[in-house]
Amino acid sequence: MSTAATPDDVTKLADQGTILINGEWRKTGSAGMMDHINPATGKAQAAFAVGGRAEIDEAVRAAKAAFPAWRKVKADVRRDILNRFAGLLEQHKDKFNRVAALETGVPISGFPIINLAIDQVKYAAGWCDKIEGQITPTYPFDALNMIHHEPYGVIGAITTWNGPVAAAMMKSAPALAAGNTVVVKPPELGPFGTALVGRLAQEAGIPPGVLNIVSGAAEAGEALVRHPDVAKVSFTGSIPVAEILLKAAAEQIKPMVLELGGKSANIVFDDADLDQAAVMAAYMSAVQLAGQGCLFPTRLLVQDSVYDAMVERVLAHVKGVKIGNPLAADTMMGPVISQRAVDRIMGYIDHTVASRDGKLLTGGKRVGGDLADGYFIEPTVFGDVDNRSRLAQEEVFGPVLSIIRFKTEEEALALANDTRYGLAGYVHTNDLGRAHRVAGGLEAGYIGVNAFPSMAATAPFGGWKHSGYGREGGRISVEEFLRPKNIHIALPGSNY
Ligand code: ADP
Repeated sequence: MSTAATPDDVTKLADQGTILINGEWRKTGSAGMMDHINPATGKAQAAFAVGGRAEIDEAVRAAKAAFPAWRKVKADVRRDILNRFAGLLEQHKDKFNRVAALETGVPISGFPIINLAIDQVKYAAGWCDKIEGQITPTYPFDALNMIHHEPYGVIGAITTWNGPVAAAMMKSAPALAAGNTVVVKPPELGPFGTALVGRLAQEAGIPPGVLNIVSGAAEAGEALVRHPDVAKVSFTGSIPVAEILLKAAAEQIKPMVLELGGKSANIVFDDADLDQAAVMAAYMSAVQLAGQGCLFPTRLLVQDSVYDAMVERVLAHVKGVKIGNPLAADTMMGPVISQRAVDRIMGYIDHTVASRDGKLLTGGKRVGGDLADGYFIEPTVFGDVDNRSRLAQEEVFGPVLSIIRFKTEEEALALANDTRYGLAGYVHTNDLGRAHRVAGGLEAGYIGVNAFPSMAATAPFGGWKHSGYGREGGRISVEEFLRPKNIHIALPGSNY
């Protein structure tokens, strides 16, 4: 394939170091070096430092040492630092977009995920000087009963590769605003954007030790959760890894925030605006991020009477998609992240074809020709999918949409909720009563009615059921990193 741009952005970041501890960058790690593969070419493009337990120990020590001063930084000063940080992220938007294209294959022409990160930092900055306590009544005797909300100390943040910069900021920004210090463990499949974040954090004046970054893999992630001086962990990733980490955290009764993916239903009723619904149904499941989004509407539930009309519209969109080099301005869809991902996704497609759990309507193949070396998979749509099939029940995390028929509202809700996941849910209808009923009946934490939510930083994002717990975004995301303390002060002269 022709790569018009060079991978300068990521090689430079790798050369400058991807581990940041106490304000100092490291170019090598105790667990060695790892080649990063550009998913669009299948070729190694930069080697980065892999940190392990040793770097996590040092980073946590630095974060612990920095905590007492950071929590005492005056609220307005902390707010100004975070606002400066957001401004610098904004100035480097184009660079972040190029890095995302190179490290994770996200087209530069698509939705700039960096915007989510910037908004999270701005939003969290606004909370710095608004964290308040309460005074409550006491009995049987008079006292001053105060409730303070205090930071935990050191927060561990473990992120995944499909939006590593946004995820790092969804976790770190509220944690920092609340007065905690942070150690981020970015994903090995996408460590460079987070390194750029670290450089801009330094430039913004976030003091050494307050935000540390240890690029690495499982060893570093596990060391972070097991470290006794890490008070709380926020994790985005898969359920099997969450299970390992929960067991580790259980040994220290350590609280966690878990964002673990989904298999979200998108219910289209016969009174919906089908043209509008089809755009979202097609692009947000089988095109955007090559389908690698945890909240994507991967199960499209369509009412019987409009099934054919909806399928026709969805296919018209999907078939027109331009797949290719993420750095090219006209590319709509890039590669999936790795060869492992190709194998997994093709495994689901082949299994569904063989088992007849659904009818293949379009796609279903790895892209060849000029793109054969990269990890490109055609946008793929299956119709008449069995909701109990592997395809409909498991998270494929690739450009594969399952379409399922239903007849009644009750059946639609039952199908939508018949999953262990509960991250998001979507409903398309022009009947206001039905919109409220279905939104109320969906067992999920993030609902869109006639739209895909904008992921505003003001909105609490997170799952129900096996999709995890805890929230990112909204006031509650700051509260995740504060713990209440009740202080009872006896008043002189009170009768006790
Ligand atoms: P995904 O499938 O989305 O990559 P993973 O759960 O495998 O999700 O990875 C998410 C994050 O968890 C990454 O930063 C990864 O390095 C880290 N990770 C993977 N395995 C472990 C583990 N056993 N312990 C701690 N962290 C891990």
